[in-house]
Amino acid sequence: MAETVAAISTPNAAGGIGMIRISGEDATMLAEQIFYSVSGRKVTEMRGYTCAYGTIADGDEVLDDVVLTVFRAPHSYTGEDVVEITCHGGVYLCRRILALLYRVGALPAGAGEFTKRAYLNGKISLSQAEAVMDVIAADGEIALKQANYARSGRLSQRMRSCSEKITALLSAFAYWMDDPEEFPPELQEDTLISELGDICGELQKMQETYRNGKVFREGIRAVLLGLPNAGKSSVMNWLSGTRRSIVTDIAGTTRDVVTEQVRFGEYTLLLADTAGIREASNPIETIGIEAAFSEVQQSDLILYVVDAAVGLTAEDEAILHRFADKKQILLWNKNDLAGVSEPPEGYPTAVCAAKTGDGEENLLRALTMVYPVPDSSADMTILNERQSALIAEASASLNAAISDLLGGQPLDMVYQDLESAANALFSLDGENVSEDVVNGVFSKFCVGK
Ligand code: GDP
Repeated sequence: MAETVAAISTPNAAGGIGMIRISGEDATMLAEQIFYSVSGRKVTEMRGYTCAYGTIADGDEVLDDVVLTVFRAPHSYTGEDVVEITCHGGVYLCRRILALLYRVGALPAGAGEFTKRAYLNGKISLSQAEAVMDVIAADGEIALKQANYARSGRLSQRMRSCSEKITALLSAFAYWMDDPEEFPPELQEDTLISELGDICGELQKMQETYRNGKVFREGIRAVLLGLPNAGKSSVMNWLSGTRRSIVTDIAGTTRDVVTEQVRFGEYTLLLADTAGIREASNPIETIGIEAAFSEVQQSDLILYVVDAAVGLTAEDEAILHRFADKKQILLWNKNDLAGVSEPPEGYPTAVCAAKTGDGEENLLRALTMVYPVPDSSADMTILNERQSALIAEASASLNAAISDLLGGQPLDMVYQDLESAANALFSLDGENVSEDVVNGVFSKFCVGK
């Protein structure tokens, strides 16, 4: 990858500082053509990790005073020669400097190209590269910790310890094929099954971290459900702090699915308010009710609103039972009214009053019960669907190996299963992956990263 590329690495918005990054063999040579150092130093002669102060000029026109930093291959983010020009953070200014670089020969960097080069130059693994994007996207402490756990390479290490166990077994197979007289003890059926079971267990644990961690990275898709007049729209307004849903006393007025994003402690709730579920008498309402059911199917969590003055009815229980496969929290609403009943046992419950805005801490407590906050970063490893699918593929191959062993199948079938499992795990870190996979990963990045 010889071409030298450039991009603005700071956001496309006005700010105090802007930064344009150049990476590739000609980075210093190109920078030198637009930069005039105060000390007279030539960019091409600067050592790595050194800065120079000077101006960027387009012919006679001085565009800005800047600081220029040089990184020398391989000790840079991309592993190539890199120049970073730090200027004032004007959108037009940054674009002018970038245009100058294009004029002297730099090519536009694609989405995530700097990180892609870091991966292709062996600076980081594919899972570490993916984690860079998650660091940028993190909107809370846990999401950031998870991303940094993977970025530090600890995810790779944990996965590698599994793939090494599998490759050790594959070597034992190879050894035995070479010398059929000596049967390696690790290939004894019981020993092998137990070892494969252990690796499967470890992969299973990693897979669970994905499901748990996803909550903190991507938010919880939650749907507000409950009988008409239980207070769903009021809860929506209370939690979102706006008056987006229309609140009325007439049953069946919330006809569409309304969504809001609400930050709650470490949790982001993607809230959907739905039509009250009941037998509708008019056709518009029926559409709303269908939308409500489809919203429920796609959600992670049901916030089931109950009018505490009415209590939990058989109809409520029937709805909760119908969606028993979803996580559920009861919102025991209208607790400000006199003489309301106690909530039932058996559900995570938040006693609240949407109208007065009471009960936030109860809801947070209920959320923590349903989605425990991981207490160590080791509990949060798998970052995305690609990684999760590969872990699932490796587990499936290992389970197939166990079934083959138990079913008395020839050992070369078991060998093939193990090989597939190892390949899936290698792909996690970008070994043996196709260009399409790599391009797919980096297409999700922003330009400049
Ligand atoms: P939905 O049909 O479930 O969306 O219910 P709404 O949010 O439209 O509320 C129905 C009625 O209950 C309205 O008159 C609200 O003002 C009232 N309501 C909602 N929450 C509370 C609450 O916490 N306390 C009291 N006292 N009334 C409430």
